[in-house]
Amino acid sequence: MDWETRLIHSGYDLCEHTGAVSIPIYHASTFRQPSIDNFGPFEYGRSGNPTRQALEGLMAVLEGGMYGFAFSSGMAAISSALSLLCAGEHLVVSRDVYGGTYRALTGLFNRFGITHSFVDTSDLDAIQAAITAQTKALFLETPSNPILRITDLAACASIAKRHGLFTIVDNTFMTPYLQRPLELGIDVVVHSATKFLGGHSDTIAGVAVVNDELLARRLRMVQNTFGAVLGPQDCWLVQRGIRTLKVRMDAQQEKAAKLAAWLLAHPKVAAVYYPGLSAHPGREVHAAQSSGPGCVLSFTLADRQGARAFLERVRLPLLAVSLGGVESILSHPTTMSHASMPKKYQEILGIEESLFRLSVGLESYADLENDLAQALDIVD
Ligand SMILES: *Cc1c(COP(=O)(O)O)cnc(C)c1O
Repeated sequence: MDWETRLIHSGYDLCEHTGAVSIPIYHASTFRQPSIDNFGPFEYGRSGNPTRQALEGLMAVLEGGMYGFAFSSGMAAISSALSLLCAGEHLVVSRDVYGGTYRALTGLFNRFGITHSFVDTSDLDAIQAAITAQTKALFLETPSNPILRITDLAACASIAKRHGLFTIVDNTFMTPYLQRPLELGIDVVVHSATKFLGGHSDTIAGVAVVNDELLARRLRMVQNTFGAVLGPQDCWLVQRGIRTLKVRMDAQQEKAAKLAAWLLAHPKVAAVYYPGLSAHPGREVHAAQSSGPGCVLSFTLADRQGARAFLERVRLPLLAVSLGGVESILSHPTTMSHASMPKKYQEILGIEESLFRLSVGLESYADLENDLAQALDIVD
């Protein structure tokens, strides 16, 4: 079936008792068992819940995987995937990975003896060079945040297979609608479902999907043991969001592409980062492994001191930490998502004071362009 059909009809068979078209929200912490010789499909709410199972099944179908897992946040999904490693093992990680993942590796998992190397994963030789005898996994994000660097997923999967590593991809920016890493040979896909999957800035949620049964068993053990599961109400909200994923992303992506081209031509803008632009590094790799450039772009002002003046004038995109909602969201990486990163490291990544990240929402294109134009007027 085509995408739009799968989005609407996967993950839930209509309730046989009532015919309810929307999945019931099962607020139950435990489930009565028929007998000690014959347990039912659900036992205890942390181990499994019908509303959660529906979301997990839906995400598995959409990612082209076999097993889905829903977590209480994107970070819970990522931390649970990282918990597949053991003390003494090492990961190679995209150096401009999400700030929370950076914090988890440098402030938490390092304390349990899990080590990491950050490398520019758009450079396959750099990945090879960073692999040691202790390396167990690659952790990748493409397009990366906030500069939208591109990593070749199929090439990374084959490097990993050669060295006996497993691969984790944070697919939050793309969603399975635009990019399906499992189909390219990746082992674990993780998401912040807070973003495009939920799509309405109304819930915090995370998802992981795998194909391999052994990995699934290990991840289920972590999910049940660590216990960072998504509650039934939030599972329902994410499923509600997913039903409109395609129409939202199609409309938002079209506006993002137009805004990127308009910003690129604007004299007050120094640089635009967007995988849909013809000069964007890695554009061909991205086009080959995904079906669109997405709805997030970044840009720098020509006026390097102009960030505060610009922000005071912007009215429509909300100044906020997040992305992927129906409302456009403007964020300022140096003071927001990447504030905890040392300045020197920010410079290496090209994250400067005048850089903004824009997640384009569903407002009218003309209103968005007009608003950015009047705010750009104020800067030098
Ligand atoms: C937001 C985000 C996360 C973290 O997700 P939460 O739901 O906020 O915990 C991880 N990766 C990326 C790329 C994100 O944008």
